[in-house]
Amino acid sequence: MNKTWQNYLKLIDRAAQKSNLTDKQKRDLIEPDRILEFEVPLGDKKYRGFRVQFNGTRGPYKGGLRFHPQVDLDEVKALSGWMTIKTAVVDIPMGGGKGGIEVDPKKLTKKELEELSRNFVREIYKHIGPDKDVPAPDVGTNSQIIDWMVDEYEKLTGKKAPASFTAKSIKNGGSKGRLEATGQGGSYVLEALAKKIDLKEGTVAVQGFGNVGAQFALAAKKLGFKIVAVSDSSGGYYFKDGLDIAKIKSRKDKGVSVIEAAKKIHEGGREITNDDLFTLNVDVLVPAALENVITTDNAKEIKAKAIIELANGPTTAKADQILKEKSLIVPDVLANAGGVTVSYFEWVQNKKGESWSKKEVFEKLEEKMKKSFEEVWVKKENGLRDAAYALAMERLF
Ligand code: NAD
Repeated sequence: MNKTWQNYLKLIDRAAQKSNLTDKQKRDLIEPDRILEFEVPLGDKKYRGFRVQFNGTRGPYKGGLRFHPQVDLDEVKALSGWMTIKTAVVDIPMGGGKGGIEVDPKKLTKKELEELSRNFVREIYKHIGPDKDVPAPDVGTNSQIIDWMVDEYEKLTGKKAPASFTAKSIKNGGSKGRLEATGQGGSYVLEALAKKIDLKEGTVAVQGFGNVGAQFALAAKKLGFKIVAVSDSSGGYYFKDGLDIAKIKSRKDKGVSVIEAAKKIHEGGREITNDDLFTLNVDVLVPAALENVITTDNAKEIKAKAIIELANGPTTAKADQILKEKSLIVPDVLANAGGVTVSYFEWVQNKKGESWSKKEVFEKLEEKMKKSFEEVWVKKENGLRDAAYALAMERLF
């Protein structure tokens, strides 16, 4: 059993006890409705592919597709379970799903990536669709991949179906603001949190500078927060006066690492490791990369007053208990729900044949995120994670 699934089970156990779930209700959060596991061919090679449809009681299954060498069934199961909780926390009429391929997309050419993405759809197209299961991107995937997938889905089914996937490119029916949505949503949560607790200097460290981490850093800086450290898989950079996020992003978009990008802009800063980033003396720590990065090994060293979980499952259940004493954790199932919320907005626009402005999307997103934050906040006597799970249990059962 992998660590992420173990962590998921521990959190469900805790939630089941706190919410007095029946055995049947608990089982619904442990046993997915359907598991699809298959080979995805690419030339003479084959890659392991997955789609887990975890729980569809509140609407069509919804969740991203991850292309990463560590993808396995346990990980996809946990991520699809969390999607079930998340869609309930932000109260959108969708269920939980997730999928992916065990592959390193960085090692494929663009042509190979397209072929692999299309072949993935050939394996699952009978089980997905606008009213059944609506995938989106996650780590290692993007709107280009989703565009290929929609095209393949439409070829196979013989009908136009833009609402079959979300986070498409704008020209192919994607929603304005979807690219920024998860990070932007996280910034609304940060804004709401800053009204509740004193975040002193407003200093922030962000682990992961991909879609989510970079967009969050941009949005948080606009709100007046000082982003003093960011990192990617090759390491991080610290600058006490605050990093120029837009400049770092524009260099990183050209293919260099965060360190390479940042050290040319901020000569007075210093390189740090991802381990160092977690222990910095900052007000807010934001994991925005992968699972299980906050563990019993580093939890004691964490000094941040608040942790905003933009990655899914970044904190192990044991570390969560240690941190409860000193840091306020805004859990993934609330903090990163901006992505699925705007995916839902995209699905609605596609179904109604509408196209909303970015301003309208962000206004609706802000309202949703802040309302959900308040609904969780009032239940927080045992911390925000337990509160979010309790709210989801009420809505699911
Ligand atoms: P991405 O592929 O765009 O970016 C991932 C980033 O993490 C990259 O900068 C990568 O270098 C970095 N990274 C990978 N391993 C690392 C390590 N060991 N240490 C430091 N950095 C590392 O992915 P993303 O879409 O930004 O997703 C990031 C997280 O947010 C994931 O947990 C994902 O499930 C979650 N999430 C994404 C969305 C979305 O809309 N994309 C929505 C909700 C949650």
